[in-house]
Order: sequence, then C-alpha cells, then structure tokens
Amino acid sequence: MGESALVSLACSQCCQRLEADALWNTCPACGGVLLAQYDLDHARRSFRPEALRDRSWNLWRYAELLPVRDPVYRLTLGEGGTPLLAATRLARELGLRTLWLKDESRNPTGSFKARGLAVAVSRAVELGAHAVALPSAGNAAAALSAYAARAGVPAYVFVPADTPPTIVRECLAYGARVYRVRGLITDCGRIVRQLARERGWADLSTLREPYRAEGKKTMGIELAEQLGWRLPDVIIYPTGGGTGIVGMWKAFAELEALGLVGPERPRFVIVQPEGCAPLVRAFHSGAERAEPWEGATTVAPGLRVPATIGDALVLQAVRASRGTAVTVSDREILDGMHFLARTEGLLVSPEAGATAAALRRLRESGWLSGAEEVVLFLTGSGLKHPELLPTDDQVPVLDPDDPRSLERVVASETEHP
Ligand SMILES: *Cc1c(COP(=O)(O)O)cnc(C)c1O
Ligand SMILES: [Zn+2]
Repeated sequence: MGESALVSLACSQCCQRLEADALWNTCPACGGVLLAQYDLDHARRSFRPEALRDRSWNLWRYAELLPVRDPVYRLTLGEGGTPLLAATRLARELGLRTLWLKDESRNPTGSFKARGLAVAVSRAVELGAHAVALPSAGNAAAALSAYAARAGVPAYVFVPADTPPTIVRECLAYGARVYRVRGLITDCGRIVRQLARERGWADLSTLREPYRAEGKKTMGIELAEQLGWRLPDVIIYPTGGGTGIVGMWKAFAELEALGLVGPERPRFVIVQPEGCAPLVRAFHSGAERAEPWEGATTVAPGLRVPATIGDALVLQAVRASRGTAVTVSDREILDGMHFLARTEGLLVSPEAGATAAALRRLRESGWLSGAEEVVLFLTGSGLKHPELLPTDDQVPVLDPDDPRSLERVVASETEHP
C-alpha cells in the first residue's frame, strides 16, 4: 500500500493554506470550502497502474491521494471497488452507443456515502476525534453510524423527521444516537454546528470538512482505472450537495498531474428533482452561486438539499466541463428506478433512478447524440426504500394441494409483459 502524499489544505475561495494535520471545518478566514492538497510529484513514484494492480479492491488502494497517514487508521468495510456494468439493453432502448452503470449501491450501508465517510471518520479519528456528528438526509447518517461503530467512537446523527424509517432504524442498529429534526437537512446542520462546537464533536457535515470529498473523489479515480486510464464523454450524477462532483473534478485534475489521463474532461450532467433544484436553476440563470430553494420536496431524500456550501465549486465544474443541468419530476424518478430494475436487474434508490430519467430527457432533447460514452452514477440501493417498491398484495398465494392453484400460474404465463 502507498503512503499519503497529503501536504496541506487550501481554501477554495481565498486560497489560504492551512496545516493539514489538525481538524478543520471551513476556512477560518472566509468560511470557504477547504480542499486537500497533495505532493503529486511524490505520489507519482508509487501511484502507477502496475503498482496498483496488486492492491485490494477497496478505495484505500488510492492511499497516496487520500489523507490518512497511518494505515492503522484506515477503516474499511469494503467500500469502493464497485462494478462498472455495461448497460446494453438500456443503451439499445435509448439509442446510445455505450452506456455504463457505476453501481454504487454495492457499497457498505447501501450507498456511496460509505466512500466519503470511510475516509472522513478514519481521518477524524487519526487526528484525535472522540465523537463524530453530522446532519443527513439519511444515507450519510447510516454510513457515519457504521464507520463510527467500526472505529469505536460515538456517532450523533440528525436527520429530517420524515427520513425513510428503514434508514433511521439502520442507524440505530449500528448504535448511533439518532435525532429527528422538524425541518430539512439545512436545519439539522445548524443544530450540529452548535452542538459540535459546544461538545467538541468532529462535525463531518459534507464539504464543511475537507475529507468526505476525498473519499467521494475515489469514484472518479476508480472510473478512470476501470476504463483503462481514460475518461468517458459524459457523467450523469444525481446532485444534492454536489460533493461527488467536487470530488471527481478534483480527482481528474490530480490524475492529469500524475500523467494518468489527458486534459479532456467528461461533461458533467447534474440532475435534481423539480421540487428541489437550486443548482439547476443557478446553472441556467448564469449565476455563480445558488439561492436556497424554498419549500423543497421530492421522493429522493438524498436530493432534498435546498442549499449547499459547495454551490460555486459545483457550478464551476459543470461549466468548465461543458456539461449541463436538468430537472426531473418525481414521477420520472420512480419510473427511472423501476426501469433500471426491469431492464438491467439493478434495484436502485430514487436518486439513482433520477439519472436514468435525465438520460432519457437528454437523449430526447438531442443534447446527447447517442454517439457518446455515458456513465450513470447509481448512488444508492433500492433496498433502503421498501416504501417505493411494488406492494405484494397482488401476489397470489397458492395452495399446494389444490390443482386450480396451479392453473392460475399457467394462466398468468401469458400475461407477462
Ligand atoms: C447524498 C446522496 C446523493 C447526492 O450526493 P452529493 O454528492 O452530496 O450531491 C445522491 N444519491 C444518494 C443515494 C445520496 O445518498
Ligand atoms: Zn478562505
């Protein structure tokens, strides 16, 4: 395994440099997002395709580009190393040459939040944290709870009161202290900031500390590695706070500096639901920052993020990549989710369903010609949303001793779509 090449933190807004081996949240001078900086000349010596080949398939294989220095602190539940699946049936149906599905639902705790929190909890504990906390729409809370259990430190998670019960119960199962808040993730965030300051917890709110983005960055590195050290033409990403976009954009720059990919970048497509689309609105109005969204509501909890501290970074990345931003309705999100299950055998979360909905829209509008190589990020598992799966009350119950029972099965053979 490689050694971390972390050297410092840099404010993305005022460029101030900070010492990396202390716990920081946002920039003390201007409140901007802090990003980890690496000595890439140093990393280049061991971070080579041949050297990586012998490392295990979890995100720690990219240790040089991650912040944890002592391998003892690298918590793992097997995060990362998710499959990149060719979606031939879906591609044919939508008239696309090459379509890949990055199946992030296979991560520990059923979503890609495991990547960010594996790294952030590891690093916080390495830097002496004795308790960790965050606001979450659900999946980050579950991932934090699991990694905190793994590290043996208490986790305090704050989620909107209407968070899917399966996810709340999952956090409880990991032994986390869970609080439901009347309000949205932004309201949970205010509580965490106050209590973290008073109680000395490490506040792991996304992009309000530098290392969750580092964990999510590994999606971009892994994608490049799986494609044989090249990048696709288009990435479609369901966007809440935008940490994944910030992380992958950073990853591509680091890989270019290491000589592993060229200067071309995939076009980023951010997808948000019609009921909460602050970044899409800002993108199309030409704004550099996004106004908070009033009355946010959607079936996809991970996308119900009315405001993000990463807004400027996300918008810059989407524009610099010559990408775009689209909204989809809740109906399209659910259709996308069920379509992925029936067409490709992947039971994904509503956020992931949104990418399939956006793909269809972009193909229909002509933004995608069909000749591009496209990757959808399927960020979470549908198993965490039993409330969105088909109900079982229409499923026949057979009596094994009644021959008419079996006649029903035979009759239904012809009914299949
Ligand atoms: C958090 C979450 C998102 C949004 O991720 P960001 O990188 O914060 O924009 C998308 N999908 C799922 C399943 C999530 O849990
Ligand atoms: Zn600053």
